[in-house]
Amino acid sequence: MHDFPRYSLLATRYCLILLFTTVSCSKPDPLYQEQILALGALVDISISGVEPERAQQAASAIAQDFNRIHRTWHAWQESELTRINAQLPGGAPFPVQADLIPLLTRAQELSRQSEGLFNPAMGKLIGLWGFHSDEPRGPPPDPGAIAALVAQRPAMNDLRLENSLLQGRNPAVQLDFGAIGQGYAVDTAIAHLRRLGIENAIVNASGDIRVIGKHGARPWRIGIRNPRGPGILASIEMQGDESIVTSGTYERFFEHQGRRYHHIIDPRSGYPARGLASVTVLHGDAVTADAASTALLVAGLKDWKRVARAMGVKQVMLIDEQGKVYMDAALARRVHFEITPAPDVEITGSP
Ligand code: AMP
Ligand code: MG
Repeated sequence: MHDFPRYSLLATRYCLILLFTTVSCSKPDPLYQEQILALGALVDISISGVEPERAQQAASAIAQDFNRIHRTWHAWQESELTRINAQLPGGAPFPVQADLIPLLTRAQELSRQSEGLFNPAMGKLIGLWGFHSDEPRGPPPDPGAIAALVAQRPAMNDLRLENSLLQGRNPAVQLDFGAIGQGYAVDTAIAHLRRLGIENAIVNASGDIRVIGKHGARPWRIGIRNPRGPGILASIEMQGDESIVTSGTYERFFEHQGRRYHHIIDPRSGYPARGLASVTVLHGDAVTADAASTALLVAGLKDWKRVARAMGVKQVMLIDEQGKVYMDAALARRVHFEITPAPDVEITGSP
């Protein structure tokens, strides 16, 4: 599952792996599994407890959701978003499709709560680093160009949204929803499954996961990828309706003159965030977990608690560049390490 070719979605990741419980009870629940290629990414769908035909129909309905979201939100392939980005610098109000408004508004709110560390308005900076590409290659951009974009301070509150009209008030704003696109798609898919009467499922968009219900009598188990090498670092049992999302610096990067430059950019410096290798967030919905995982990776060990609190996020696992794991006691009770020796863990206070 780690080696599929680089694909294109808003962002890419494949850091979480499903661990299916193979132990079956006397009357095993049917498990339907399908992998679809949607949003240019691999999406694993697992549905438990319904007949295969019904599960298959549900999986194709979800594939359509993912494709629609791709056509809407892709940051560099032609999409509704690229059309919006073309109009924003003009500064005049223009109409946007009604179904785009909830995510725009939610992204504004999440950005504000994160003190701007989750900043989907800095698409120009991401593009400047070459991460608007299926295969980022470097070299790093000119420092003067980075400083110039940072100085223009593109922010989500530069957008004005009124009566379905969107207006850009800072010509430097270009939207990039790479940090929440997968989470949004996963939430949309789970909502759709529920409407179809499916109560036990996992939707895993390259590591952004939301789970509902159980697999038979047992909870779903999820593996968290080891940011320092192949394989699984730890596993966790999911409790009912819950999402788990990881942002990792290993997901997208390029190397130049012996240095590695990854895709999560600190909006304050304009450079890749430093200090943490990955952040995993458990939360009810996947969009919040997705925005928070990105924001907390930028916030780093010094500031993550304050930002997590403001974003309403409580369960967080951080791994620093040396492989040390930080998490609070409640999460530590749920996490089971799958490597030996287990990593060095520091139990933190909860956010
Ligand atoms: P994620 O893997 O969820 O952390 O998302 C990373 C993707 O979001 C990158 O590939 C960029 O497209 C975009 N991105 C990078 N840094 C930020 C940031 N600080 N705020 C919002 N989006 C970002
Ligand atoms: Mg994210």
